[in-house]
Amino acid sequence: MNKIRLFKPSVGKEELNSIKKVFSRSWLGYGPLVNKFEKKFAKFIGTKYAVGVNSGTAALHLALLCNNFSKGKKVLVPSITFSATAASVLYCGLTPKFVDIKKEDLTIDFKDLKKKYTKDCVALICVHMGGHPSMMEKIKPWAKKKRLLLIEDSAETCGSIYKGKKIGTWSDISCFSFEEKKIITTGDGGMICLSDKKKYEKLKSLSFHGWNLDPWKRYQKSFGKKNRFTKYWAYEIENLGFKYNMNDFMAAVGLEQLKKINFFNKKRIKILKKYLNGIKNLKYIKPTYPYNLKNSSYWLFSIKTKFRNELANYLKSKNISTAVHFIPLPLNKIYKKYNNKSLKNSMTIWKQILSLPFFPDLENKKIDYVIKCLKNFDNKMNKKQ
Ligand SMILES: *Cc1c(COP(=O)(O)O)cnc(C)c1O
Repeated sequence: MNKIRLFKPSVGKEELNSIKKVFSRSWLGYGPLVNKFEKKFAKFIGTKYAVGVNSGTAALHLALLCNNFSKGKKVLVPSITFSATAASVLYCGLTPKFVDIKKEDLTIDFKDLKKKYTKDCVALICVHMGGHPSMMEKIKPWAKKKRLLLIEDSAETCGSIYKGKKIGTWSDISCFSFEEKKIITTGDGGMICLSDKKKYEKLKSLSFHGWNLDPWKRYQKSFGKKNRFTKYWAYEIENLGFKYNMNDFMAAVGLEQLKKINFFNKKRIKILKKYLNGIKNLKYIKPTYPYNLKNSSYWLFSIKTKFRNELANYLKSKNISTAVHFIPLPLNKIYKKYNNKSLKNSMTIWKQILSLPFFPDLENKKIDYVIKCLKNFDNKMNKKQ
């Protein structure tokens, strides 16, 4: 069997044709397609606005930055997440306060969240780990009571519905990633979704040098009679902004991917069903998440086993890629000083988890092969014990 990848973006002739049109229009940067993609994406998620950026990391950075929190304040973040969740906190001169996760689904532990909260906390970032929704029905009212800005890091899910409500609409601001491995891709890219108009305008500006007009709007102002007597060429630098904008190449791909998103999520569900059915009788290998497939958008197929390292090596020898999502952040060099001793679940569960090949175009015969290898491994361990 050829090497089986862990992730693979699903792009085709639709995306390619869309890029060709950008070529012939010869407006490659911040152009009309960015605005179009933002509108369509906001509509898809169900927020009033969306701001396209060049990564999920940039989305998280700006989502925190636009609130002008004073330096040194604390932001609650789960201890198991992708590094950018906590990096965004440090970018803003704020301090991450790590909260333990639940062993059953790797999302933030509500009990520990309440324990870790102190008066100097200004925001909370919930992560829908692996695409599994955090307990938003409990977190949202609690965060409101504590006057915390609530951010959803939705980088690992797109289009899922939790308790009748789209993921991305449970919070004040939600951040998505279109990095090549994520649910939909624009190569690299991200989106900030929200319904607050003032913050939306600020985010637009922050994502493009802090200007009050993006280049496409200025270009449009430069034509037509209506604006003949205005200083169409003028813009004001209102904020210390960043060069974080999405461009028309990315938006061209994103618009096509958005058309396919329900199909992608359906395929993911189908593959998960096959995997879960295949491993259901194994003794030493269990699913990491309590996969609830209805209206889901899972990014990871992850299993847990006490023989994690052995299994990873075994699958490597069988040409199957695996990875660990994720090593707890406080175990990493730059986050050590924010470790707070009471992250018990994180520190044990991460040693057992392993992500297996999972993407919409994964063929049945490859899934069968992975399942067969998992069964062989389980048998081997059974005999050893
Ligand atoms: C991928 C990811 C990000 C960052 O997204 P990029 O587009 O790669 O910058 C942030 N948070 C989580 C949870 C992620 O999985």
